[in-house]
Amino acid sequence: MSDIIVQKFGGTSVADTTKIKSVADAVIKEKELGNDVVVVVSAMGHTTDYLVKMAKEISEKPSAREMDMLLSTGEGVSIALLSMAIQEKGYQAISMNAMQIGIITESVHQKARIIDIKTDKLRKHLDDGKIIVVAGFQGVTEDGEITTLGRGGSDTSAVALAAALRAKRCDIYTDVEGVYTTDPRIVPCATRLKQVSYGEMLELARVGANVLHPRAVETADLSKIPIRVRSTFKLDNKGTLITGVENMEIELSQPVTGVASDLSQVRIVFCDIPDVPGNAAKLFGTLAKENISVDMIIQSYARTGNNTNDIAFTIDKADLTRTTQILESIREDLSAGAIHIDDNIAKVSIVGAGMVDRPGIAATMFETIAKMGVNIKMISTSEIKISCLVEKKDSDEAIKALHTIFNLDSDKIAVVKGDLPNI
Ligand code: ADP
Ligand code: ASP
Ligand code: MG
Repeated sequence: MSDIIVQKFGGTSVADTTKIKSVADAVIKEKELGNDVVVVVSAMGHTTDYLVKMAKEISEKPSAREMDMLLSTGEGVSIALLSMAIQEKGYQAISMNAMQIGIITESVHQKARIIDIKTDKLRKHLDDGKIIVVAGFQGVTEDGEITTLGRGGSDTSAVALAAALRAKRCDIYTDVEGVYTTDPRIVPCATRLKQVSYGEMLELARVGANVLHPRAVETADLSKIPIRVRSTFKLDNKGTLITGVENMEIELSQPVTGVASDLSQVRIVFCDIPDVPGNAAKLFGTLAKENISVDMIIQSYARTGNNTNDIAFTIDKADLTRTTQILESIREDLSAGAIHIDDNIAKVSIVGAGMVDRPGIAATMFETIAKMGVNIKMISTSEIKISCLVEKKDSDEAIKALHTIFNLDSDKIAVVKGDLPNI
């Protein structure tokens, strides 16, 4: 039996018909190696942004269901064109959307999670020798409603398919040559990492390294599918391998593996909430019921004589309208005060398995930001991550400074030696 390889090509990789023809060559190359190939594609170029823009021109608050109907069309164009391009080169190919396959998601619009993928039709087409071209980013509920997985979600479609089909590997082809120590478009001297563990990659993706969708990494970790992030335009380059193996070399020499920024959050301060048991539970419980994820949270200290707290937290910008509606609706019940919204924020983060049990990393981060004369508005930490909220305008400079102070600039770093395991 042949191995199954899942390949995923992002928007820039299929931006026009010439690029789609080159992608067909990359797909055929994998098939010629003797593998069964399933290809996941995103919408062409900036199609999804364009569709969002058109919706916003029609309605300030378009319904989530109709947004999914609209956005899912972008991938439909790419799969048919790529399938034709492969057929034109003399190979059998078939395009399939989520409904045809049975990529079943929960009943949530715009950020649905995949709960099951039917593999019977896929296996039959593979057994017949066909290359299958799948529409990324979309799913269908048990009731036949179209859903989408959240922006950047085609990565998750690819890894979930790889898991369902027990593929040997999932290759994510994109417009950079792998995962770097930070976004190479912000810091040109960023270093490509040859290997990263699922744990570190998950933190990096969650804090803004949008080269991979966080749920794709989560799914890969659960199913132990190796991911390779590689360049569509330099096919011989092996890119970055993401597996369960910790990169001991990095851990021993570097406390920090990567730096990232996230400009998509908004800070909300809910003022004067009475300092009594249950109020925080009520606030965040209501947001959770509405499927709104909260990231950083700070509750102020209630001083004597003023038995109220301010609670500050961050959410994704896309959830702002719904969140403010919810806060207004529970304000009276909580006897709370004003709501302040700050969207001029950026979250800058450092990530590294090597920072566990190493004192001084947080202090170095805060000192570096302080030396720039930048004020930190919020801080949050996990075992392998520290995040600081700063003003948007300071984000890129902070990323550059942190990248340098933690020895990640490409002329300094010594973590990319040695050959990769041949997966
Ligand atoms: P695709 O359309 O192929 O899914 P994306 O735009 O979603 O591509 O992801 C690739 C982009 O991710 C790169 O162009 C790069 O600017 C950005 N990026 C952010 N952080 C990193 C990182 N640490 N390593 C590599 N790329 C990164
Ligand atoms: N086309 C979708 C987006 O632009 C999904 C993806 O590209 O991963 O977000
Ligand atoms: Mg992407």
